[in-house]
Amino acid sequence: MEPVEFRRWAEELAQWISTYLEELDGYPVLSRSRPGDLRARLPDEAPEEGEPMDRILSDFYELVLPGITHWNHPSFFAYFAVTGSGPGILGEMLAASLNVNAMLWRTSPAATELEEHVTDWLRRLLGLPEGFRGVIQDTASTSSLVALAAARHRAFPQAREEGLFHGPPGRVYASAEAHSSIEKAVVTLGLGRQGLRKISTDSAFRMDPEALDLAVRDDLSRGLRPVAVVATLGTTSTTSSDPLSPIRKVASEHGLWLHVDAAYAGAAAMVPELRAPFAGWEEADSVVFNPHKWLFTPVDCSVLLMRHPEVVRDAFSLVPEYLKSSPGEEATNLMDYGVALGRRFRALKLWFVLRWFGAAGIRDRIRAHVELARGFAREVDAAPDWERGAPVPFSTVVFRFRPPETDESTCDRLNLAVMERVNRTGEAFLSHTALDGRTWLRLSVGNLRTQKSHVDRAWTLLREAAREERR
Ligand SMILES: *Cc1c(COP(=O)(O)O)cnc(C)c1O
Repeated sequence: MEPVEFRRWAEELAQWISTYLEELDGYPVLSRSRPGDLRARLPDEAPEEGEPMDRILSDFYELVLPGITHWNHPSFFAYFAVTGSGPGILGEMLAASLNVNAMLWRTSPAATELEEHVTDWLRRLLGLPEGFRGVIQDTASTSSLVALAAARHRAFPQAREEGLFHGPPGRVYASAEAHSSIEKAVVTLGLGRQGLRKISTDSAFRMDPEALDLAVRDDLSRGLRPVAVVATLGTTSTTSSDPLSPIRKVASEHGLWLHVDAAYAGAAAMVPELRAPFAGWEEADSVVFNPHKWLFTPVDCSVLLMRHPEVVRDAFSLVPEYLKSSPGEEATNLMDYGVALGRRFRALKLWFVLRWFGAAGIRDRIRAHVELARGFAREVDAAPDWERGAPVPFSTVVFRFRPPETDESTCDRLNLAVMERVNRTGEAFLSHTALDGRTWLRLSVGNLRTQKSHVDRAWTLLREAAREERR
């Protein structure tokens, strides 16, 4: 593509993107596509001859956009709402333009050093002590996999050479509310699904540290090898937080690696009055937090903070001749801290975000989201036929419609129907979860464009849908 042509399309796209972000309210949040819709409209084969950009773009607008669920939409309340902010998008544009592969320091010194520096800024903002070193991975799933691989390496140092065929079966512990990525990591690491022992939770969905202690002792008495415990701060269902101090005690007594999963809630640690659940996380062996969730950075960007980077490196480092650096080049090679060799320049967008908003600007927005969520929770609490399923420590509310004289299974069906009805309007998008086997709805605030009017509208839609379903 010739430079003049590139400039023309780049300018057109910059226009389109800014209008899109401005007019998001007009799009249906949840895509109305049915399975196969897009593929049915695409040719079977890639074009033999190149096509003009205007045709590619018009297909993007006409074919691709209808299949987009708008995560940027101010009424996206499902899962954990995220935001790709302006500065984040600009950073991502530059990263794509530079197209560097930051596998070694020398393959782009600035990409490595900015990653080290900006994750250190983040560490300080989160209130974690020196001694944690940051590395950016694509997702929390990968960050937790890397952390647990390091834990496995510490527990079974010989496994790197021999595989996991000798020695006792390893065990990882996490609460029944931990994210499924932990189980996936345990399976991927060859410990088997039986290698994850799910610890029961209390009435507020927090890990029961006594049950953890009993489970570890039980496994030890059966000749198993406890490897790691994963504590979640901000669980995916209810945003509950496991009690770190007693978990830490069990971990240190039995030599377990303590990994903290704060993929969503970590952002709240930047706000002093929201920091209570994080007390003690400075004692963890590793912490994961996703700036691509509640820190205004476009997907993907997950920060793994490592207290023992040397163990992570020992677990992963393999340097073939063609990747050897020159003698005297004493620098971090990021390929040593994870599965992938190649890596995108993700630090750039995070650097843009932290600088553009500033710590104070970030804190203000996190506070505003928490306030919106708590305002919604107050509405639910005040409404006679609705109830809340869990406290609201962050920006996510778990609630359900509970009209009098409805049994639990009717109530489950009713809530799914209410949610589907709201989601079909295209005006808001919510998701659901299960607590003690029952269906609950979730409303999560995390988007920079979300105003009180959007939350109010979602509440109106929910009550209207509930009325319709009760007829
Ligand atoms: C979202 C989430 C994850 C998974 O995040 P990915 O980056 O999508 O892998 C893991 N743990 C918790 C607590 C989460 O909220």
